[in-house]
Amino acid sequence: MIVVMRKKASDESVGRIVTKIQELGFQAHVSKGVERSIIGVIGGVDDKTKIENLANLSDVESVVPIMKKYKLASREFHPDDSVINIRGLKIGGDNFVVVAGPCSVESREQLLESAEIVKKYGAVFLRGGAFKPRTSPYSFQGLEELGLKILAEARETYGLPIVTEIMNPRDIDLVAEYTDVLQVGARNIQNFSLLKELGRVRKPILLKRGMMTTIEEWLMSAEYVMAGGNEEIVLCERGIRTFETASRNTLDLSAVPILKEKTHLPVIVDPSHAVGYWQFVSPLAKAAVAAGADGIMVEVHPRPEEALSDGGQSLKPERFDRMMQELKPFITAAGKRMVSLDEKSNA
Ligand code: PEP
Ligand code: MN
Repeated sequence: MIVVMRKKASDESVGRIVTKIQELGFQAHVSKGVERSIIGVIGGVDDKTKIENLANLSDVESVVPIMKKYKLASREFHPDDSVINIRGLKIGGDNFVVVAGPCSVESREQLLESAEIVKKYGAVFLRGGAFKPRTSPYSFQGLEELGLKILAEARETYGLPIVTEIMNPRDIDLVAEYTDVLQVGARNIQNFSLLKELGRVRKPILLKRGMMTTIEEWLMSAEYVMAGGNEEIVLCERGIRTFETASRNTLDLSAVPILKEKTHLPVIVDPSHAVGYWQFVSPLAKAAVAAGADGIMVEVHPRPEEALSDGGQSLKPERFDRMMQELKPFITAAGKRMVSLDEKSNA
């Protein structure tokens, strides 16, 4: 249920309704919009009449049931776009962010070189996996804590906040200590123990779509983290598995406008993992902008032919540069602005 307050309702009025909701044994979740406040009611024993009676209190305009399974992630709960602020860099609203870097942190030199390149051409976040979810146990598994230390050094040197994957709940505190954003990969999207634990983390989560998850299941995964107390979530479409074999996955661009209708959370697109071949990354990045994405995440490697993972889909420095140039008119046409590192605060 959501309680919609009247346009001019004061903070005191909102506070009074919140207390009333809590007295009834529910949790109240206030969303202060530009026009009016909305209070989401969750948990507690489902006693609809008790909540419906709230409609009779002063300053309450209406009480509306939410039919969707996800609540905190829904647009109804939070009609305005959520804008997540990471060290002064905003994701969501009319901001467009570029996250770039290699698939894996392979060595100090490789990562620092990558950071320098992606920064030079306009990325504002550095990505790189230290814990890698590889299909084969014999493939490179990542540098683990050493990889995190290298990422932290790159952030120190180049000032780019970092995004890295968390796979195992037991590593959460370690990864959270080093990174600015914790990435949940496609393979872990329905690891509910991990999602519950991430609810207590005070850092944003980049939640990638699973290769077999529907949009509703994906939003339910976001709901798990949000219900645990962490509402800073960025969704990342990275392709789903279909019958097509010419591309690694099939980029589901329809997910972008559909998500924009269903949720207030920012949505970015990862064309690299979606298509799996560097030649097609740039056109899909442009299509993602046109579909309304709030950013992209792309793999860039100084020498893709030497990469320990995903070299075939990684952009060479000059190709990344070209893509960034070509993206600009699309971003303007979509009514967005490219976020630049100048906006970064030292907080
Ligand atoms: C990655 O970002 O390197 C990655 C493993 O992505 P995904 O989980 O989408 O496959
Ligand atoms: Mn990868």
